[in-house]
Amino acid sequence: MKILVVEDEPSISNFIKKGLEENGFEVSQAFDGEMGLKLAGRDDFELIILDLILPGINGLEFCQKLRSQIQVHTPVLMLTALSTTDDIVTGLDAGADDYLGKPFKFKELLARIRALTRRKGSTLVNVNRLKVADLEVDLDKKFVTRSGKEIRLTPKEFFLLEYLVRNKNRVVSRLDILENVWDIQFDLSTNVVDVYMNYLRNKVDKPFEDKLIQTVVGMGYIVKD
Ligand code: CA
Repeated sequence: MKILVVEDEPSISNFIKKGLEENGFEVSQAFDGEMGLKLAGRDDFELIILDLILPGINGLEFCQKLRSQIQVHTPVLMLTALSTTDDIVTGLDAGADDYLGKPFKFKELLARIRALTRRKGSTLVNVNRLKVADLEVDLDKKFVTRSGKEIRLTPKEFFLLEYLVRNKNRVVSRLDILENVWDIQFDLSTNVVDVYMNYLRNKVDKPFEDKLIQTVVGMGYIVKD
């Protein structure tokens, strides 16, 4: 399994490379964003580990360019010393899939890598189309329609909707969502779920009369048929 490490600090980059190779991964290194984008577009990586603070193109710009310009959807794990809720939301908004604060334990990095690559794999083997009322989620094409009309979602909004629909007619808590959609298991004070639920409702429910996503006060959220 091939992983790209985009990190300008050679000692950190080499530490990650050495550890991953010991765990059976094949690792390529880029020491700035430009080089990282070149490699990401050229090779088939299973995962990109990306430092936020880089010379030239920073991690956020890297993510945006990766997703919108070169159309690469490889999962991105962002590394950074900054770890306020705003930084997390900004990073995830830019297209990162998960977030790990520096300094981190190598064991924790490995756990995140397993979660990110497992999630990708599990999507492929399951049923490829999910339905709730007039909402359809095509898991292969990452395509959502309601009453036959296309709804355009960002990758993170899509994964949130997918999780809600997979658990339809069942209340899911904010913690369930954080663990399954973001793999954030340590910071319960983050409001990232509320922020994204709001984005999602504006697209999926607001233009329609029947509201599919409901809040269960004090418990979480439910999507009902
Ligand atoms: Ca750096």
